[in-house]
Amino acid sequence: MEFEPTEEVKEPPRIHRLDESVVNRIAAGEVIQRPVSAVKELVENSLDASSTSISVAVKDGGLKLIQVSDDGHGIRYEDLPILCERHTTSKLSKYEDLQSIKSMGFRGEALASMTYVGHVTVTTITRGQLHGYRVSYRDGVMEHEPKACAAVKGTQIVIENLFYNMIARRKTLQNSTDDYTKIVDLLSRFAIHHIDVNFSCRKHGAARADVHSVATPSRLNAIKSVYGLSVAQNLIKIEAADNDPSSSVFEMDGFISNSNYVAKKTTMVLFINDRLVECTALKRAIEVVYAATLPKASKPFIYMSIILPPEHVDVNMHPTKREVSLLNQEVIVEKIQSVVESVLRNSNESRTFQEQAVEASPSVPSVTSNDLNLSPLPSGSKSQKVPVHKIVRTDSTDPAGRLHAYLYSNTQRPLERDSSLTAVRSSVRQRRNLKETADLTSIQELINDVDSKCHSGLLDIVRQCTYVGMADDVFALLQHNTHLYLANVVNLSKELMYQQALRRFAHFNAIQLSEPAPLHELIMLALKEEDLDLESIENDDLKEKIADMNAQLLKQKAEMLEEYFCIFIDSDGNLSRLPILLDQYTPDMDRVPEFVLCLGNDVDWEEEKNCFQSIAAALGNFYAMHPPLLPNPSGKGLEFYRKGKHGKNPQDGENSSSHVGDGIAIEDEFEHELLSEAETAWAQREWSIQHVLFPSMRLFLKPPNSMAVNGTFVRVASLEKLYKDQNWIKNDTRFLEAGLRKD
Ligand code: ADP
Ligand code: MG
Repeated sequence: MEFEPTEEVKEPPRIHRLDESVVNRIAAGEVIQRPVSAVKELVENSLDASSTSISVAVKDGGLKLIQVSDDGHGIRYEDLPILCERHTTSKLSKYEDLQSIKSMGFRGEALASMTYVGHVTVTTITRGQLHGYRVSYRDGVMEHEPKACAAVKGTQIVIENLFYNMIARRKTLQNSTDDYTKIVDLLSRFAIHHIDVNFSCRKHGAARADVHSVATPSRLNAIKSVYGLSVAQNLIKIEAADNDPSSSVFEMDGFISNSNYVAKKTTMVLFINDRLVECTALKRAIEVVYAATLPKASKPFIYMSIILPPEHVDVNMHPTKREVSLLNQEVIVEKIQSVVESVLRNSNESRTFQEQAVEASPSVPSVTSNDLNLSPLPSGSKSQKVPVHKIVRTDSTDPAGRLHAYLYSNTQRPLERDSSLTAVRSSVRQRRNLKETADLTSIQELINDVDSKCHSGLLDIVRQCTYVGMADDVFALLQHNTHLYLANVVNLSKELMYQQALRRFAHFNAIQLSEPAPLHELIMLALKEEDLDLESIENDDLKEKIADMNAQLLKQKAEMLEEYFCIFIDSDGNLSRLPILLDQYTPDMDRVPEFVLCLGNDVDWEEEKNCFQSIAAALGNFYAMHPPLLPNPSGKGLEFYRKGKHGKNPQDGENSSSHVGDGIAIEDEFEHELLSEAETAWAQREWSIQHVLFPSMRLFLKPPNSMAVNGTFVRVASLEKLYKDQNWIKNDTRFLEAGLRKD
């Protein structure tokens, strides 16, 4: 921590406090990303206010005007002055409430945010009042005293000129015509879940509403009135539940489309604890089942409502609160996936039975129209007039007919039907995952290893702790009960990413690289970084050879890497896709070369379990939240960015004398850019640590026993000690060993 003053050291650049309104506007822009996010917040507020009727009117895709009117309980006169201040809410008063909160919003951020990026006017009346009040807000405060006015029951909130002070945002949004479509889509989703509420959505001034739903006790009716008969008549009811705290606790019910529903895009309307959210992992898992069972209807319509213990849902992960994380997400997703699979299979089988009954000629093998939907047939084969035996061979001894598994002929006796069912199942499995059975065992073993090595004391800390802040580049300060801990975020994130790589195995979403990166060059880069001092020509030749061999090797393994780990390498040997291990997190791309080298060098390709383990470890190391490669511009690291005597790199004395004369201006600019790049990288990392790493750890991490003794967790003796001894981080090594072993 000591700082050696050098005579030549110039004053560090002054740090300005940003104007508060700018800070607020930036924060607000994060909460309200587009008009549709404002509408969502407003409608959720209306639902929270127990409204039975909510109507939305929109002008210019929401940029000119958003108006949401409800018949809810209204807002008390006394509350109007603070209504739009940040962190004012009627729904949450202490941190613990977050765990059990049932209402939609809770941060008290939405209305405030809107006043920083638009002009907000509220008209409201509470029960028993003779008149209502109207008041406008700007930058969190009332523009004038509330004015008495005539009002009907409830609240109307109007936002005008959204993003008037964010020119770039306004411009990008102006060019996009789909914001109104997004709003209509949003209201449609609300309408089929909250079926006891009347919803309407229209363009301002239009007579016709684009969404118009009337409260009904029947979900199917609601779906019919919003999405139309063609959707409603092709839905199958679905339910699942689990109540085993050691695996998962949830209830799910919903509707999914059958083989007759054909669309270009999947529609997934998902409510978790009555909140409209997204869960990419679940959506993907269901799509996979459809693709395998109903290839022709592979873009389903899904409505699902899942109820979980509130403390199992992390809703606080993102300002827009859209993508959620669930405790035991993998288990829940898998259970729902298998229910969907069996529902789809049963629906096909039962239809085959029905059609069998009406089939006239038992001697001619036939394919029902539903079966035709199951698998792609050669073009022109759709016509029912073509005898089936000319389309596909039905001889069950012929293993070549790919369609066999899907075809039932009504000459089958019950026993044969059974075996054919087995064939369907195994074929579905095969398509879903080429080597599922084999893989699952070794992956399952690795996951079991993680579970069995989990340290219960640390698990408790990870689940319950409060993140205080970063103590230095690597250690975060955590509070758990009355103790403070230092926790090594690099180790923690590495382990978390490793475990995620195992848990999401073969079910990853992808990060697409903006440009495919040639493996060979990546490996060369990594090799050059490895030994800077051995710069000879021979050495370069050797490196070329190593790079070639490794690139070849990875190309050979491409299929497996893609299928199981979503690491996509094209036939030219370019890396173009990487897996998402944690939603909302992308790794530091500066570390791609090292990762690729590590895949080539450190992975055991021989034995399956070791192979998966070492690839997951390589991913873990790559995705871990290492300190950015650019030195930390705050504190001591700032010297790196200073021009003059110290050179560009303080470790690199050779270069230091070259910065003189004309170069200075250019260099100034260069250094300035570098500095701001570094600032962004470090700020970004800190954001990720707080908002992605810690919430996800709470949900997913099983800290291994080794972390209790290898310095990953370090207990600070006591809070008083911390305050007494200023040099506690450096000098007090006693806490390194303290406590954890006993825990
Ligand atoms: P949050 O919903 O997170 O509490 P908001 O900024 O969305 O924060 O709203 C702040 C408060 O304003 C709410 O807690 C609620 O008391 C009140 N409020 C907002 N909209 C309405 C509404 N339509 N009807 C009644 N009260 C409302
Ligand atoms: Mg709200």
